[in-house]
Amino acid sequence: MDDEKRKKFLAEVERARKERQNRPKVEPKWPYELYGVECGKGWKDLYQPVLDYVTEYNKDKDDENKIEVHQVKEKFGGLRIYLSKYTPEIRKMIDEAEEKSYNTCEICGKHIKKPIVENHWIYPMCRNCFRKDEERKDEVLKQFENKIKKMKESFEDSKDKSSEGSEA
Ligand SMILES: [Zn+2]
Repeated sequence: MDDEKRKKFLAEVERARKERQNRPKVEPKWPYELYGVECGKGWKDLYQPVLDYVTEYNKDKDDENKIEVHQVKEKFGGLRIYLSKYTPEIRKMIDEAEEKSYNTCEICGKHIKKPIVENHWIYPMCRNCFRKDEERKDEVLKQFENKIKKMKESFEDSKDKSSEGSEA
């Protein structure tokens, strides 16, 4: 590169760098921000104290020292709470909540001996809620199948019409 070209090149790099700096930062959103709590209400007594603790903790902190809730969900039959950082106290609270969740129905909060395992899936539910959940899933599946059937029918209809059209 000759000097002129190099100067132009460096100016271009500098311009791009400045542009990048000035661009407003778009923070990626965490699931909690988007979806809130992603587990059943039966676990409310387990996760709510943690969320309350975070609210209390954040009260007198400026933005960079606040604890951010990233996700509250069910995984492998247990409650998971992910935060941007953990104090020893909150770590303990979360561990205990997870421990208890394996013996708590995620839907109604009733005590259970252990989660139900079926087809390699773990359902932290009591028998009653599990059965209702299965019925609900069957219902959703039926509705879905009906929808597909109707779509197929209307597709066949339109095919009939267009073939009638081409015959004429
Ligand atoms: Zn239940």
